Amino acid sequence: MTADLLVVGAGPTGLSLALQAHHHGARVRVVERRPEMFRPSRALILHPRTLEVLRPLGVTNALLGRADTAPRVNLHLGTHVMDTTLADLALPDTAFPHLSLIRQTDVETVLTRALEGRGVSVERGTELLAAEDQGNHARAFLRSSHGAETIRCTFVVGCDGPDSAVRDCAGIGWRGRPYAEEVVLADLDVGGIPPGAGAQAFAGRQGLLFLFPLGEQATWRLLATRASAGHTVGSVGQPGAVVPEAELHRLLSDAGTNARIERLAWSARVPLRCGIARRFRRGRLFVAGDAAHNYSPATGQGMNAGIQDAVNLGWKLAFAASNSANRPTSGFDAGELALRPGWPSMFRGYLHDDERYEAAFADGWYLTGEVVRRDADGWYWFVGRADDVIKSAGHLIGPFEVESALLEHPAVAEVGVIGRPDPVAGNVVKAFVSLAHGAEPTPELNRTSCSIPTTRSAERPRADGCS
Ligand SMILES: Cc1cc2nc3c(=O)[nH]c(=O)nc-3n(C[C@H](O)[C@H](O)[C@H](O)COP(=O)(O)OP(=O)(O)OC[C@H]3O[C@@H](n4cnc5c(N)ncnc54)[C@H](O)[C@@H]3O)c2cc1C
Repeated sequence: MTADLLVVGAGPTGLSLALQAHHHGARVRVVERRPEMFRPSRALILHPRTLEVLRPLGVTNALLGRADTAPRVNLHLGTHVMDTTLADLALPDTAFPHLSLIRQTDVETVLTRALEGRGVSVERGTELLAAEDQGNHARAFLRSSHGAETIRCTFVVGCDGPDSAVRDCAGIGWRGRPYAEEVVLADLDVGGIPPGAGAQAFAGRQGLLFLFPLGEQATWRLLATRASAGHTVGSVGQPGAVVPEAELHRLLSDAGTNARIERLAWSARVPLRCGIARRFRRGRLFVAGDAAHNYSPATGQGMNAGIQDAVNLGWKLAFAASNSANRPTSGFDAGELALRPGWPSMFRGYLHDDERYEAAFADGWYLTGEVVRRDADGWYWFVGRADDVIKSAGHLIGPFEVESALLEHPAVAEVGVIGRPDPVAGNVVKAFVSLAHGAEPTPELNRTSCSIPTTRSAERPRADGCS
């Protein structure tokens, strides 16, 4: 069967992407090499923004039905214990002004069921072996218990985690490093904590230790950080080698808790790293979620960022695929938001730039520069800024790409890129660089760092200068 989109990986990113693309009229296939749906959850927290972006897909009630939206946490510091509620984040402008504690497995279950309800089943036990951009289509090679299959599709999206096969097939590089810390996960029954108590957080000698009442094979989920043992067994970011019970006892006692392990259901060491793909797309091959970026789970962001990537990318690919196949899209409506001027706080001009002010109006409408799409209920959703590209000598240049290239220079700690008006080119790229500790701002460094974006590939722009 052919498809507009082949989604590789049925983690939270792949499932959300498939749902969003299908919602916008794309024919979607989702392949997942794990034969079973269940795996121990890693993520436990959903952010308000993630619920917001999922709302048009009709899954938020089911998610909230499985979530604790008023989580209580006992913070332990030595003998001091503080009982706190994370219910109210005091965010006035969201329908979900709370943290939601929910297992990743529950998120995946809700998304899988929503897909099934739309007639899309995850093809489990099916592995992507290779993917190729063939110019006017993409080709993917799959393997399952039914044998090998080659499929033709418009796009392939790798939502296949940190060791992404799609990223490798696209020849997309990766920049990152392992963390000095690793995570220990375990599901256990413990004595010494009163029944019905909320999450427990301990600042221990070796790191942080949390007990969440969210175990999947026992009452509690233990999550602890500790110095990495150094050698990585198994995939980064994925539950790996078992942690002996004696080590778990040590972690609990180092954290200063009286909790005793009564039954250990399972445990795993999770090696961690941070990193980012050098680009998120090559031709018809894309990467999203952990395949595109990894960071410490301490930020509680990986699943949230993956879902937000997916919802953003999903409608765009559906739109692009339907255009290339010349088929109508279902209820799709996106473009620059234009407003009728006349509201009391309407701005009256750009300082010293009347021409720019006038250029912001067309046929009596004010063009906001915000790209939005409208959902089935008539709500408008922010997609991006129309002007987040630099137009230079006829080329459209993404500041992000230039920033990513410059960040590869060891002397560059942080960088921000803008377009500087230029009478000939329209704009030239200007980078503001903060140097790494110990690096000196020499003319030689300026020359070499400015040449990086140009040498990286022929399509990259010339950097005008670094400040
Ligand atoms: C200890 C820990 C705690 C965390 N807590 C949080 C948290 O509270 N909040 C949060 O937002 N994030 C958290 N994260 C991060 C979160 O778990 C990940 O960011 C998230 O799982 C990424 O989702 P994904 O769909 O991109 O990738 P994954 O969940 O890794 O899914 C990728 C899928 O692709 C499949 N696959 C891989 N290769 C192939 C192939 N060749 N063919 C077919 N299928 C393939 C895999 O089997 C897998 O199912 C935590 C992570 C860890 C380690």
